[in-house]
Amino acid sequence: MRTLLLHDDPADIRRAADLIQAGQLVAFPTETVYGLGANALDEDAVRSIFAAKGRPADNPLIVHISNIAMLANLAAELPDIALRLAQRFWPGPLTIVLPKHRSVPLVTSGGLQTVGIRMPAHPAARALIQRSGCPIAAPSANRSGKPSPTTAAHVMDDMKGRISAVLDGGICEGGVESTVICLDDAETIHLLRPGLISAEDLRPYAKQVYIDEAVYKQLAPDVKAASPGMKYKHYAPKAKILPVDAPDHAAFSDWVQAHAEKGCWCLLFDSDPEVPGVPSMRYGDDGKTQAHYLFLRFRELDAAGAKTVYVRMPGQTGAGLSVYNRLMRAAGFEVITV
Ligand code: AMP
Ligand code: MG
Repeated sequence: MRTLLLHDDPADIRRAADLIQAGQLVAFPTETVYGLGANALDEDAVRSIFAAKGRPADNPLIVHISNIAMLANLAAELPDIALRLAQRFWPGPLTIVLPKHRSVPLVTSGGLQTVGIRMPAHPAARALIQRSGCPIAAPSANRSGKPSPTTAAHVMDDMKGRISAVLDGGICEGGVESTVICLDDAETIHLLRPGLISAEDLRPYAKQVYIDEAVYKQLAPDVKAASPGMKYKHYAPKAKILPVDAPDHAAFSDWVQAHAEKGCWCLLFDSDPEVPGVPSMRYGDDGKTQAHYLFLRFRELDAAGAKTVYVRMPGQTGAGLSVYNRLMRAAGFEVITV
């Protein structure tokens, strides 16, 4: 299959929408990462998303909408708290898991009776949904297990020949996937996957925000994941990712120098000095910047031929929790504590 590279202009968005209507796959930019889109209500189109990604069938897709009225045909119930969150955070990187309407095929929801829904903030994404005239199911546009793509070129690296088109909207601002929540009761937000909308951001909207244990640790094989994606190894480049939990840069640097071998690199904070004798890249000092750069650096480290990457451990508050979670998943939750 030839994969068209389309531009973020009205004529190409129209072409992309025609492809979606015809049951084809189109990757498109969002404010988080690139999504791999298909008509969420077309079972065959949705099946081809799973095939193109190599994604396990029980890993549900997020359904993207361009206006709140579209919820009526996707969610069977809309609790007050969900509506308040939607009004506050949409369009934006918040996915709300709700009981699914019967019109949503089980292939889309990974066999669950719930469906994750969000309204993206990227204008090209919303224009595409609107023009297509249907909700668009879209997981991240990477091959399953690989880092999510934040540029059209990264999508092409993974998906060229497997999908009909990539709509190039430049580099994604956010860099990590959306925050995913469900509502345990009228007053409890359950954070399933951290993103740029943080637990702290959500706190004013509920009596409590409960952070799922899968955010911090690998679930035991017999535990049922509240969010199926959290049980799979994820986001990993070819290089082995090793987070190093050190009290400061000096301790990190001493440890890395003592253990440096051929092909090893460091991923440092912007404010860190170099680690003598070890090549490095940087990913920012604060959670938001680190989120923007993490997957980009993973792909650049692979391109540089890195075999092992020692990573300075990010913070775990605010947007930092999303970076920590992606890094830990990429590392299979193995940490070096110095
Ligand atoms: P991706 O689109 O690749 O970023 O993955 C979407 C992730 O959102 C899945 O891997 C799930 O962990 C989560 N998710 C989507 N829909 C649901 C749902 N109905 N229930 C729980 N988690 C969901
Ligand atoms: Mg993904």
